[in-house]
Parts: sequence; structure tokens; C-alpha cells
Amino acid sequence: MRRRCLLLLLFVSGLAGCSSDAPMPVIVYDGGTVSPKTEPLPPPVLPRPTPPSAPVLPPSTAPRGWMPTRSERAWSTIIIHHSATGEGNATIIDKWHREENGWNGIGYDFVIGNGTNSGDGEVEPTFRWRGQLTGAHTGGTPGNWANEEGIGICLIGDFNRTAPTARQMDSLVRLVRFLQQRYGIPKSRIYGHGSTPGGHSTDCPGARFPMSRFKANLP
Ligand SMILES: [Zn+2]
Repeated sequence: MRRRCLLLLLFVSGLAGCSSDAPMPVIVYDGGTVSPKTEPLPPPVLPRPTPPSAPVLPPSTAPRGWMPTRSERAWSTIIIHHSATGEGNATIIDKWHREENGWNGIGYDFVIGNGTNSGDGEVEPTFRWRGQLTGAHTGGTPGNWANEEGIGICLIGDFNRTAPTARQMDSLVRLVRFLQQRYGIPKSRIYGHGSTPGGHSTDCPGARFPMSRFKANLP
């Protein structure tokens, strides 16, 4: 009976409220009794937005070797290569580049294996990535920009003869997504070696590298 009277009182005061400046009471149901309460609700707690200037994945989401240990370069571009060989790994290419090219080591930043001399889809970061050094993978560009600003990724295989393995492509997508997010690199700045603006003419990474399908998997 008391509750019915209270509700009637609230109904009448609600009608009267149209011409009154008095605040409408907030009805709180607390376990069987109805009581008016005018305390304001606390403001909602909203998640803090991520600043767009810091598009960085938490380090825990990437394998440890993908995170440079030196201060990072301002990478703007990613360039995809093939080894043009049926087999290999980062150590073997490192030897080739030292002995045949006279370089101080492998020219790429990352190598992705095909199951011959390293795991199928295994990502090997090189000394060049760890040291954040200028690359030696895409020659001929004005001011050597592609080696200064471009991250070179080499997949083991001759993709004029065979296609990359599914695991290689899965690893490539994962690695490139990580790099895109970390350095803010748009899809439009990801090239095959031969389509790098200003670079030497080459068919690298091979006619059977599925560039369109690869890019369709990137943000
Ligand atoms: Zn190449």
C-alpha cells in the first residue's frame, strides 16, 4: 500500500514537473523498496584511444628477433625478393653475398625458409635488421633510397619455377603486417623487387609470386 501511494505521488509530481525547474528524481530499485534519489551517476569510464602517431604492436605479440635491439630507422617501404634458388637459408645467402659480392654480409633484413635449409615458413632476421643497417638488396634507386628506407625480405625459392609454400606466405603476411603497423607503412609502399620505382630491371620475385593475393591479405 505504501509503495502504491509512493508511485502515485511520483506520477503526480511528474505531471507537475513540466512547469517546474525542480530536478526529476531518479528512481533506484534497491531490493524491494522504492526510493527517490537525486545523486548524479558517475561519468562512464571510456577506453583511452591509441594515439595514431604510435601504431605499435605490443612487443609480446611479435617473435623476439623481429624487434630491433638498436634505435630504429625511419623505414618507409617493404621490398619482396626471392632467392632464385631451390634451397637456402640466411647463413647460406650470407656466405654467397660475402664471397661473390664482397659485401659485409647478407643484403636482406629477413629470410623466410621453404623447408630445405631452414624451416618451412621460418623467419630469420639477419644481422642487417638487428643492427638497423642500410640494406643491400635493391640497387639502382636514386640516392639508394630503396636500401636506405626499404626493408628487404627474401623468400627462399625460385618463383619463376615454383610458387612459394603456403607456410612461407603465411609467415610473410604476418611479418609484413607487423612491420606495416610498427612503421606506419601503407600497402602502396610494398613492392616486388622488380617493380620498385627507380630500381634495376629484374624479374625478382618471380612470375609465380602471388603479389595480388598477398596484398589482398594486408591492411
Ligand atoms: Zn630481389
